[in-house]
Amino acid sequence: MKKISIVIPAYNEEGNVAMIHQKIKKVFEGLHHYDFEIIFVNDGSRDNTQQKLEELSRQFDEVKFIEFSRNFGHQPAVKAGMDNAYGNAVISMDGDLQHPPELIPEMIKKWEEGNDIVFTIRTYPKEISFFKRKTSDFFYKILSSLSDVDLTKGGGSDFRLMDANAVEVMRGLNEDDLFLRGLTSWMGFKQTGIEFTACERLSGESSYNLKKMITFAFTGITAFSVKPLSIAAYLGFIFSAFSVVGYGLYVLYAFIAKTEISGWASLIMTIVFFGGLQLIIMGIIGIYLGKIFKEVKQRPNYIIKNKNFQ
Ligand code: UDP
Ligand code: MG
Repeated sequence: MKKISIVIPAYNEEGNVAMIHQKIKKVFEGLHHYDFEIIFVNDGSRDNTQQKLEELSRQFDEVKFIEFSRNFGHQPAVKAGMDNAYGNAVISMDGDLQHPPELIPEMIKKWEEGNDIVFTIRTYPKEISFFKRKTSDFFYKILSSLSDVDLTKGGGSDFRLMDANAVEVMRGLNEDDLFLRGLTSWMGFKQTGIEFTACERLSGESSYNLKKMITFAFTGITAFSVKPLSIAAYLGFIFSAFSVVGYGLYVLYAFIAKTEISGWASLIMTIVFFGGLQLIIMGIIGIYLGKIFKEVKQRPNYIIKNKNFQ
């Protein structure tokens, strides 16, 4: 019998873990040829998620958990689950039922058809705020144009199935700024996508706010591409050429014609503009420098305090 491991990161999901287990169990009751396990990763929850997970794993053999020493974030939590998942295929999904377990049979079907990675494309229900929808779309557009990997296909969701082979590759990727959607896209293999409509959170609150989304966007761009650095270099060339052709000729003309050039305003404008531009470019270099700094320290992405795999 083939085994499917399901990885679920959980941060303050006390109200959801029992329900999601129920739903997944029900889905697998309809799938006779598959065994399953659920690996919950408690990412330093401050509510009773841990107690709930311990109860569940006492009651049900298929429920396993990993407890982090503190909150490390969604991406490290998914990675930890995958690092410890040894099913024939591994599915990662959110712990708030925004990723419908009812999609699992279709994912498995696509996998059985020979796909190594089955990603999902999220389409939005009307209730999701216009703002979030737009920022998300915008993010993936910018990201894809700045990045070297195509991120539009897997865009917007960490709900995906990976074959054990692909999971093995993922296990070996231990970079500091984890961005799993980009990494899976970058990995290659045979991939296909299916669409689903994200639902509202069952209970609790989303922990992604605008600031986190912007940080996430930066991670996505800088972890996959050095294009911002070359944009800086191009800007340098463009402005140098412009100053030689534009200002240089003008100054030369004024010199020959012996006319005075007045222009306090344009001078200040130019100084301030280029001051700002240089700071931005230094900031971009700084971001990459910071990444190198974090990467050389080789700290783990997460620390496991307790693990129950009976
Ligand atoms: N999550 C996590 N660590 C965090 C934040 C979130 O493990 O620091 C989990 C959370 O429990 C959920 C998933 O990541 O299972 C997605 O989080 P959330 O629902 O807050 O994000 P959204 O659906 O709003 O993008
Ligand atoms: Mg959610």
